[in-house]
Amino acid sequence: MPYPHLLSPIDLGPITLKNRVLMGSMHTGLEDRFFHYGKLAAYFAERARGGVGLIVTGGISPNRQGWLLPAGGTMNSRLDVPSHRRVTRAVHAEGGAIAMQILHGGRYSYHPFQVSASRVKSPINPFTPRAMSERRILSTIASFARAAALARDAGYDGVEIMGSEGYLLNQFLCRRVNRRTDAWGGPIEHRMRLPVEVVKAVRDAVGRDFLIVYRLSLIDLVEGGNTWDEIVTAAKGLEAVGVNLLNTGIGWHEARVPTIVSSVPRGAFRSVTARIKHELSIPVCASNRINTPELAEDIVARGDADMVSMARPLLADPDFVNKAASGRADEINTCIGCNQGCLDHTFAMKRASCLVNPRACHETELVVRPAGQRRRVAVVGAGMAGLSAATTAAERGHDVTLFEASDAIGGQFRMAAEVPGKEDFRETIRYFERRIARTGVQLKLGTRVERGALDAGFDAIVVATGVVPRRPNFEGIDHPKVLSYVEVLRDKKPVGKKVALIGAGGIGVDVAEFLLDDAGQTIEHYQRAWGIDPTSASAGGLTEPEHATPRREVWLLQRKPKTKKMGAGPGRTTGWVHKLALEREQVHMLGGVEYLKVDDAGLHLRHEATVKVLAVDHVVICAGQESVRDLLPLNAKGAIADPRWHVIGGADVAAELDAERAIKQGTELGARL
Ligand code: NAP
Ligand code: SF4
Repeated sequence: MPYPHLLSPIDLGPITLKNRVLMGSMHTGLEDRFFHYGKLAAYFAERARGGVGLIVTGGISPNRQGWLLPAGGTMNSRLDVPSHRRVTRAVHAEGGAIAMQILHGGRYSYHPFQVSASRVKSPINPFTPRAMSERRILSTIASFARAAALARDAGYDGVEIMGSEGYLLNQFLCRRVNRRTDAWGGPIEHRMRLPVEVVKAVRDAVGRDFLIVYRLSLIDLVEGGNTWDEIVTAAKGLEAVGVNLLNTGIGWHEARVPTIVSSVPRGAFRSVTARIKHELSIPVCASNRINTPELAEDIVARGDADMVSMARPLLADPDFVNKAASGRADEINTCIGCNQGCLDHTFAMKRASCLVNPRACHETELVVRPAGQRRRVAVVGAGMAGLSAATTAAERGHDVTLFEASDAIGGQFRMAAEVPGKEDFRETIRYFERRIARTGVQLKLGTRVERGALDAGFDAIVVATGVVPRRPNFEGIDHPKVLSYVEVLRDKKPVGKKVALIGAGGIGVDVAEFLLDDAGQTIEHYQRAWGIDPTSASAGGLTEPEHATPRREVWLLQRKPKTKKMGAGPGRTTGWVHKLALEREQVHMLGGVEYLKVDDAGLHLRHEATVKVLAVDHVVICAGQESVRDLLPLNAKGAIADPRWHVIGGADVAAELDAERAIKQGTELGARL
């Protein structure tokens, strides 16, 4: 059997799971409204059908103060039970198991009624919490117990108590927020009292045959976080009162250390879970940046953990486990850690989905059904939009030919995979290569096609010809110092020690990182660069970051005035990582510039009413893109003249093109052709 350790059953006491894959909790936005529970049920049922051992829902609050958002998902009344029952029935019908996560936001709750251990405001929330009175603490414990009892009535197999990532129970556990001088604050034995009392009350409410998972922060990554000894004391205390499985939490949301983005090496925190496993007799579960069955198997096989939690990888591919189990791991649509379709949506208060799988959380809406009539479909361009359209259409039974002018598939995405920290993007290209082979798409690489041939030979023609880099118009644009980002990232043209980047969008930031980062993505390098001490000898597991001398001197430029966001790129939840990394590499960020010319002396520009010359070796143009639409038959008004023709991706709209839109648009078109 492939992955024999990962895919072997595990006895957790109240329940035996068919394998050791836990779908980690992830807020989708569907759990907040009862009328979305049908969609939520379909989303989880698809993952249960895909073979996941245990699913954990997104966070459900035990009371109103704990809401993450006003009127967020709550389990505190019998009226809440029927919606949840739809979810549990759907999962059980597919042979799965599911636990409800109970999450009290504490000072991360985004509303003015938030509470915490002490009146200590979070840096990532505008509201200041009220310190909880003893009465409020006791009623909160009772709320956790009631939520768990209701979860049991709703058919869940267990609950996960969320005690990490800086939420309420984590706030009580650490001096950072817990400044109390009563029996709920002070030494670790007092600070852990709330988590321990919550588990005791939950156990009393649900009995012995109901699963309790506790997610404990094993490294806080914030000042005022716990030391290793304190974490072990808390873990042992939780074990003693009846926790069946300890799940790993890494870092508070306010930590300024990246823990899940694509630049974090895979398996970066497995050693932390391995350390706690040696201290406990209950099973433990590893998490964070585990996105392949090989790595998950290795973690279990080497005894670093008993189970492996994956949240985003199961958004990306609901069939992850079944594919691994049947020797088809190369067909897995791998999570690339971009956060664009999932957490960026959540933080924008939109429904979560996935960049590489737009069906995630839209299972009832984006349905791929067999085609009524087999048609001959041409797709021109094998970037993300074309690949998605071609493979989806072929899956439905159409006869699809995919034309690509270059000698490889992937388009802009292939280039992005060259950027340090984006190596996982190659997995998406591998996934599409396999999907092309599996679906029978006829791929014609190195082939330029003419409109006439397409018109004559196909019933439907999809133009996904993408974009070309924009070429600004100023004196010296043809000077040998000037390169396009394509020449740098794809063609690997040599670049000097001093470089100016024209354009500070996503690609300007990518090119800056490409030019500056040469250290590779080892776990040791990542830990040194971000000041992580995985032994947590110091509070919070933080040490002084190590800064090497930058490899190059880089100027990142834009015509718009400089803003706080400059250097952050497009991602809501990833921008701060890019910005901190570029600041550390001492990149000069200038906004409000006017480009005058390039000559042997360098780049001449006007900035704050002064003309300056940046004496650079190269100027790299990262000034956005323009659509390539030559193939389209357009009428006098610029509209597509023939209903058989379609345009998607960058060829449709170049501005703000990103892979998320390209894949979504391609999949949606492929599903309705
Ligand atoms: P972009 O985000 O639109 O940025 C283009 C940059 O070029 C801007 O900074 C703009 O600033 C500048 N610019 C535009 N026209 C110019 C002109 N005529 N002369 C000089 N400068 C000009 O485009 P991009 O960086 O090429 O990225 C393309 C798309 O891919 C974007 O949607 C981006 O979100 C996406 N992307 C995403 C990621 C990711 O990690 N998620 C990474 C890379 C790219 P001024 O107009 O102020 O000068
Ligand atoms: Fe993973 Fe990106 Fe999909 Fe989120 S959007 S699940 S990070 S691939």
